[in-house]
Amino acid sequence: GNVLMTGTNGFVGSWALKVFLESGFTVRAPVRSEGKASYLKKIFGAYNDKLEFVVIPDITKEGAFDSATVGVDAVVHIASPVTLDANHPDEWIIPAVNGTLGVLRSAAKVHSVQRVVYISSTAAVIDPTATGPRVYDENDWNEHDVGTCQREGRAAPQVVKYRASKTLAERSAWEFWKENKEKGVIGWDLVSLCPPWVFGPVIHKREGGPNDMNDSTKFIYEAVVKGQYSPVDLAFIDVRDFAQAILLAVTKPAAGGERFIVAAAPFRWEDLIITAHELSGGKTYPPVGSYNPDAPYMGRTNVAKAKALLGLEYRTQEETIKDLLKEYEERGWL
Ligand code: NDP
Repeated sequence: GNVLMTGTNGFVGSWALKVFLESGFTVRAPVRSEGKASYLKKIFGAYNDKLEFVVIPDITKEGAFDSATVGVDAVVHIASPVTLDANHPDEWIIPAVNGTLGVLRSAAKVHSVQRVVYISSTAAVIDPTATGPRVYDENDWNEHDVGTCQREGRAAPQVVKYRASKTLAERSAWEFWKENKEKGVIGWDLVSLCPPWVFGPVIHKREGGPNDMNDSTKFIYEAVVKGQYSPVDLAFIDVRDFAQAILLAVTKPAAGGERFIVAAAPFRWEDLIITAHELSGGKTYPPVGSYNPDAPYMGRTNVAKAKALLGLEYRTQEETIKDLLKEYEERGWL
């Protein structure tokens, strides 16, 4: 098959690209500038004839994806602003929403497209005001942060702007799909995937230091090696399993029209630090502070639907941490 995949120069996207190429797909990958693709061309040199980069400098521009979607069977939309040097919520919301709608509108013009997969997040699922343990499923939507952005504007915390952008982008994707599906205008099915924290080895940015990495990679490094972590923990999925989930979301007919939470297990940052300590023979063991290992997890996820329809299996926390430690060692980060 032929797939259009955005965001391939990022953490999640580079793994997704690898899995799709290894599964025999031909991938057309939009990047914002030619330079963003150069290291990918090196890593995936063996797939020269199956990988094509196209430069789309502004994904919010009308018709930005029109020529890129021609001839593709599936679309995977991963690109979205995560951490930005910006203040106004629109800096997140406009690229997230208009980028998503732009991809969908272009896909709607092409008859070959069978499936569109939108990469959402549990950011679009969780209730940020929850004070007790919660179990989330696909019926949950984070509306709260959208309201906070409207009320507080620039003053809202960055993470709130990010979460609002993911909620609004996913919601607009579903609205667009339902409306056009009912009208019979489009032949493809939408799938959305909501992962929590995505952790694991990095195949992009082999040269960079820990501070140069994407957010979730930076956060887990700071927790297990430096002992610095924020209290927001929730659940995790290994990036390699998430890349597999994206492949299944494209290839499994039964996934069509469904929203999925995909997550391995809940965690606390303290759990990860202790696991790292055990696996490294004491090499990494920043203090974990006051910690009750028996306290209930605040955010659990019900992943029964992903199990039933995608058949997704997950690496354990130990497997992910083990591979991360190996990587830190190789890079001289410990
Ligand atoms: P990265 O920062 O590594 O990748 C982000 C990607 O999005 C890059 O390719 C980036 O391209 C692109 N992008 C960002 N802003 C824009 C924009 N305005 N226009 C065009 N492209 C843009 O992050 P991740 O790989 O971690 O995130 C990828 C996706 O996964 C996101 O949608 C994120 O919400 C989702 N996700 C990630 C989680 C995680 O823990 N990592 C958890 C849950 C969801 P460029 O280099 O040009 O900026």
